Amino acid sequence: MPEGHKTHFYAREHTDWFSGQPLQVTSPQGRFRGDARKVSGVVFDHCEAVGKHLFYHFENDRMIHVHLGRYGKYRVHAAPPPPAVGAVRMRLVGQTRSLDLSGPTTCRVIDHETRAKVIEKLGPDPLADGSLARKKALVWDKVQSSKKPIGALVLDQSVIAGVGNIFRAELFFETGIDPRTAGAAIDETTFDTLWKSLIKMMRKGLKYGKIVTVTAKEAAAPLATLEGRDRFRVYGKATCPRCQHAIETIEIAARDLYWCPQCQANVTVG
Ligand SMILES: [Zn+2]
Repeated sequence: MPEGHKTHFYAREHTDWFSGQPLQVTSPQGRFRGDARKVSGVVFDHCEAVGKHLFYHFENDRMIHVHLGRYGKYRVHAAPPPPAVGAVRMRLVGQTRSLDLSGPTTCRVIDHETRAKVIEKLGPDPLADGSLARKKALVWDKVQSSKKPIGALVLDQSVIAGVGNIFRAELFFETGIDPRTAGAAIDETTFDTLWKSLIKMMRKGLKYGKIVTVTAKEAAAPLATLEGRDRFRVYGKATCPRCQHAIETIEIAARDLYWCPQCQANVTVG
């Protein structure tokens, strides 16, 4: 599932490609046909990312709301595009590029009021505009008052928007924090470390368009060339890069979390 770095990456890319152009919006598969008509032919302004949600704003005050979910995928073509292959829910055709979307959890046309309702349910998005200090304070407020494990809290989109299973695993490994620790048992210094580490990781993900948590030195290769699990320290790995202990998985918030029980025994840092 694309995490927050990827939605922000798409938002920038799709804004660059299509901003200021009237887009032809269709639904080759048919399921989005009625909604597509509401924005087709209208000038597209920009694409906005909030957590794992994308909003494509059009000049008629309508927007396309997309949540990729686990199976959503974009495919890019030149314009005009070739005939659609497979179940393409939405096709955007601009002046020089076109974009096919298949398999999203959400793809619908909404107004500002509905967008506000979607965003209302989300916690702060570290990559969105706005004061980082204020975002941190909002997240800390929820963390320190919760008995849930911190490993569940960071994945909860109403606490922080945009964190998925890979960032989660890599975050707790980097900081050495035991993800089973209750939010209320985390002290503020430890939370600061987690927060800073998360911001750094998400910004790096946005820069490369993919999650990269290893350093170039650890990987012994330029970061941009890394693919698959070579980009991670702990997610999907068999052995801990620090202590050579076997990496284990533990289910927290209904998702398997990769971790090294040996290196991640801390409740506090520093
Ligand atoms: Zn280890």
